[in-house]
Amino acid sequence: MRALYNTCMSIDADNKKKSDKSWPGGKVEWDNIETVLLDMDGTLLDLHFDNHFWLTHVPKCYAEKHDLSHEEAHQHLMCRYTEVRGRLDWYCVDFWTRELSLDIEQLKHDLAEKISIRPDVVAFLSWLNENDKRVVLVTNAHPASLNLKMGKTKLHVHFDKIINAHDIGLAKENEGFWEKLQHEEPYKKERTVLIDDNLEVLDSAHEYGIKYCLGIRQPDSQGDVISSEKYAVIDAFKDIILP
Ligand SMILES: [Mg+2]
Repeated sequence: MRALYNTCMSIDADNKKKSDKSWPGGKVEWDNIETVLLDMDGTLLDLHFDNHFWLTHVPKCYAEKHDLSHEEAHQHLMCRYTEVRGRLDWYCVDFWTRELSLDIEQLKHDLAEKISIRPDVVAFLSWLNENDKRVVLVTNAHPASLNLKMGKTKLHVHFDKIINAHDIGLAKENEGFWEKLQHEEPYKKERTVLIDDNLEVLDSAHEYGIKYCLGIRQPDSQGDVISSEKYAVIDAFKDIILP
């Protein structure tokens, strides 16, 4: 659920500007990499599902449920989202079900046909598997969303482990997350790459000492392009695979 906030609500102006910077292929020192930590929404999956869900579908359902105009519902929800942003509740299906009196899990199932895998992802994951990298999904998504998306995409077959931030008790962007992750999945910071479309998550991981932190240039196929002065952003996964 971090998804929608990444491209629609929380990206700084600097991060929204267009960039013609392309990923300098070969800079990931794959021989040095043991562990690959991968985000789900906006990194492996098109963020458009989440953005459409939270910014269009939920406001529509909220307006109907509470007899509000679409504009009133939209304004109310944007304020509520802003209040909760950056906390684990932000990603919690149960929290929003209670807060909005809507069956969020069911609403997600209703739109499941919109869940889609980003380009090159399956080939990239297969390449990592073939090259004996430890491949770990690390997501802030609530277990209900994670299960829905893995069931729909079948990407779970590529992961050595799937870790949910709700089990850690912190969101990935929160201080202490990457240290606590070591208890669930021991990893060497200098031999790990993290790929995540959320720049705040990359900051948190970078500050902890994860050596390779990469972003995603266009997490939502219908949304803004992201650039960063600090992190390389990937246009296509095929650009970082060794021939
Ligand atoms: Mg993400």
